Amino acid sequence: YAKQRGKNRVEQYQAGYDELLRRRGTLTGELRHAIDRDQLRLVFQPVVALPSMRPVGCEALLRWTHPELGPVRPDEFIPVAEESGLINRIGAWVLENACRQLADWLAAGHDIWMSVNLSPKELHNADYAAQVADILTELGVPPQRLVLEVTEHAVATDMEELVRRLAELRETGVRIALDDFGAGYSSLTQLRTLPVDILKIDHALVAEPESRTGTAAPLVDVVVRLGHRLGLEVLAEGIGTPAQRGVVEEAGCRLGQGSLFGWGVPAEHLESRLRALRPTGPRPLPAPRPAP
Ligand code: C2E
Ligand code: MG
Ligand code: MG
Ligand code: MG
Repeated sequence: YAKQRGKNRVEQYQAGYDELLRRRGTLTGELRHAIDRDQLRLVFQPVVALPSMRPVGCEALLRWTHPELGPVRPDEFIPVAEESGLINRIGAWVLENACRQLADWLAAGHDIWMSVNLSPKELHNADYAAQVADILTELGVPPQRLVLEVTEHAVATDMEELVRRLAELRETGVRIALDDFGAGYSSLTQLRTLPVDILKIDHALVAEPESRTGTAAPLVDVVVRLGHRLGLEVLAEGIGTPAQRGVVEEAGCRLGQGSLFGWGVPAEHLESRLRALRPTGPRPLPAPRPAP
């Protein structure tokens, strides 16, 4: 009987594995056409200043909706893109579209910056910094308005190359954010070695305080102070409740992001929020006076 069960388990495992491989194969094949078939979109999640909660920046997040498969999450298709080498084309598409949107918003007078996620694979390209500089020049976007986010597991790959590429990028004037800090690959050495400007605290750390009743978020506190001591800006991700916002603010963190301030939305939605904020923006024409 036990043997029978064991065998079933092996078969189940095998079936699950086959299915995973099949899904990966399908995604790779379909992702190849996603740009040409107009299936990719960007949404923009606001980054707010704390405690005012005024939007000061946003993060471009990639969305893929396939006509038959439906929406596919970036956590699933980004690794597929990385393994298949498609990430370079997709990353270039993201960068260009995010920068175009940023250029539009700046032209409309909005005081905002744009964050774009970067896959470590994209940094293997020795021309990457030059490409970024070219796009910014072409669109007339000041480099300081662009933030490139790298994740920590990226860091585990090839530290020397990464440091070199990030330094090149910074020389162009763009800012670098270390994404998902505290998510599991964290190392203080990396934080000290990497040329970064912004430290993004992972939502796992931000969500922590509420699960432990009575404890006053020691991890958030320490990470915020560490970041500030290193001269970095600190941004807390995944703030979903007023209590979490409170913890983050109390720690002295001045930038926040999360569902409490809004999920990623299409450009028009974020733009109407920005417009509502601007006291000096173009006003609607006054209603015509009735004829005397
Ligand atoms: P990330 O860069 O850490 O992005 C933050 C993720 O947290 C987003 O998930 C966002 O929708 C989600 N989020 C926002 N607010 C909250 C909140 O209050 N609570 C919780 N639990 N989550 C929140 P999303 O859009 O599914 O993206 C997942 C990951 O995929 C991103 O993590 C990023 O690593 C990657 N990704 C997304 N777009 C791109 C891209 O254009 N290029 C690359 N290379 N990676 C991307
Ligand atoms: Mg990010
Ligand atoms: Mg993150
Ligand atoms: Mg993430």
